[in-house]
Amino acid sequence: MLNIEPREVAATVRTRLFGYPEVILYDTVAGGAGYCRMLVDRHSMRDLLRKAVESLDCQAGCTHACRTCLQDYDNQLVWEKLDRQPVLAWLKRVLMMDQAPNPYARFNASPVDADEGTPLLFQELDRSNHVVVVAPTLCTIRQQDPGAEGFLSTAPLVLARRLAAWLASGSGRRAELALAQSPNFTLENSESLALWHELYPRLADGSLKFWTLPRSFDAKGWPRALTNPGKVGSVAWFSTGTVNTPLLEKPLPIPLWRSPGLLADDLTAFRSGWKEFVVVPPVKPADLSLREYRAGQTRDLPNDFAFCRAQGFAIVRIEDPYALDNDWQFRALLSFLEQLAKLWQKWPAKIEIKTRDTGEQNSIIGELQRAVKPHGTVVDVRRVPTKGPNRVDFHDRRIIFQPDEKNARRRVTVLLTGGIDRYLDHKFECGVITHRSL
Ligand SMILES: [Zn+2]
Repeated sequence: MLNIEPREVAATVRTRLFGYPEVILYDTVAGGAGYCRMLVDRHSMRDLLRKAVESLDCQAGCTHACRTCLQDYDNQLVWEKLDRQPVLAWLKRVLMMDQAPNPYARFNASPVDADEGTPLLFQELDRSNHVVVVAPTLCTIRQQDPGAEGFLSTAPLVLARRLAAWLASGSGRRAELALAQSPNFTLENSESLALWHELYPRLADGSLKFWTLPRSFDAKGWPRALTNPGKVGSVAWFSTGTVNTPLLEKPLPIPLWRSPGLLADDLTAFRSGWKEFVVVPPVKPADLSLREYRAGQTRDLPNDFAFCRAQGFAIVRIEDPYALDNDWQFRALLSFLEQLAKLWQKWPAKIEIKTRDTGEQNSIIGELQRAVKPHGTVVDVRRVPTKGPNRVDFHDRRIIFQPDEKNARRRVTVLLTGGIDRYLDHKFECGVITHRSL
């Protein structure tokens, strides 16, 4: 396609989660000659794969490989290993060439005409008390977009809540989530903590269970979801849709097929090699609290920050990229500190602020230092570049209250999903997640 020597471009293979191979093309010249770029610019991957199908569709009709199709001087050493058939079948599947109209005929599945799978799954759940869902991952843990609204009502959280509510609303209900990559709930990310907050009661009572899928699991060959497995009225859902959508984003990607549940032998084969995954709790339930405010709802600061009452902190650390961006943010910060001052026993010795460097914050910082100086508080600002070659990415907005300067493990961490200004401004929605480790 490029009129270059074949050896100027090489390829390597790896297996992606969910049992799919990924082929990586690269230029063999050090630094790259730009051939791969040229290939995608002038042609397309589809063209390339079609060319590959032509090459593999041997005119001599050989069984494995011959000089007409694959064998040449350069690959002499691997002639014995070359087998064009499975690659040809795979490429045709990728290109949707010569495919059976119903890939799930052996399960007696029929296509489902739907734009979205999630409502179908929940309709089915109303008639079920046991569901098994298979997916590559639970959810993409995103760093938050600081401008976005609805931090605690993201699509994954909404789905997690629906699932948790379904589990809690009938006795004996069970959900098994089988994932290629085990979920990781972490203190570092507010969305992940909020998810944990929704799911841990169900993990604790045993109604929710995680499994790890074997590497070789073929997601397109087995159901994505199965209700009431092994029972009368069982239903299986299949999808040829995207294989990398996380469970809590789209549990049933379209296009979809639906069949009566699996036969006993198929059920055993479907579940073979699954390993139970026991989640390590990121935090003790009693140490975590979560509060959501809708837009227009009055904030209850004395309650949200009740841990400050009669406490003294050596350091209060505020990490917020926008905390000192402009005068409005600065006023919000000052007002926030003044409201906390009604709760805490004495002002902290030090307030550390980590924020982005706008290059124009000197006067705001000076004003802040003067404002808290009468309370005996020192302000230490660390400005990090968020643009340019030395940029540091940080998004989560949190405030850390530390009673003892030398013991950073004893602390209360408050994740404010919209930042201090949005927390104080009732117009916005906002979430407060508090993690105590005192
Ligand atoms: Zn051949």
